[in-house]
Amino acid sequence: MDINTLLQPDCFSVFALGAFLGPSITEEQRILSGRQGEIIFTYFGIIPSDFDVPECRCGRPMYRVNDSSRKLGYRFKCAGGHKINPTKNTFLEYVHTAGELGCNKIVQMIYLWLISSDTATIQREVNISTETAVAYTEYFRDVATKIMNHDYLMIGNEHDIVEVDETHLFRAKYNVGRVMAWNAVWLFGN
Ligand SMILES: [Zn+2]
Repeated sequence: MDINTLLQPDCFSVFALGAFLGPSITEEQRILSGRQGEIIFTYFGIIPSDFDVPECRCGRPMYRVNDSSRKLGYRFKCAGGHKINPTKNTFLEYVHTAGELGCNKIVQMIYLWLISSDTATIQREVNISTETAVAYTEYFRDVATKIMNHDYLMIGNEHDIVEVDETHLFRAKYNVGRVMAWNAVWLFGN
């Protein structure tokens, strides 16, 4: 299943999401499932796509360098040696996606939270600690409150930035043409 099929309103469900992410029992499955979660985050502009390469503060263009120690497996670098982590200033900056808690599990937590699951259900279904479930649901609430208070009709303006405690949730430049998709997911939470 590709992401466009997954996000059709008559397809999107906890079961379709599970099929899209796949199992995460073995180490190999965990890695693959984490990548599927990254596809969802990329689609919604939360992490950069292949076409979103920033310009360095020194004015030189940046390019991708593979770095397996990084959250997304790469970082941006310019010819002057400056480096940027691709999750900088995004929702994922302070989130550890390595190891057990991959993007697949973060997506699962977001989904369950959006359909009003309680913390115990999220903890059990995503198979994480209670502390993790509590911390994330608090974070989601902060983010949702921030968006609700933001004039989100303005999202899409290239200078518009949604921030949560100094962290940019997403930047409009990653979101051109995807505003409706974002609103669609937002509406699922109502
Ligand atoms: Zn530079």
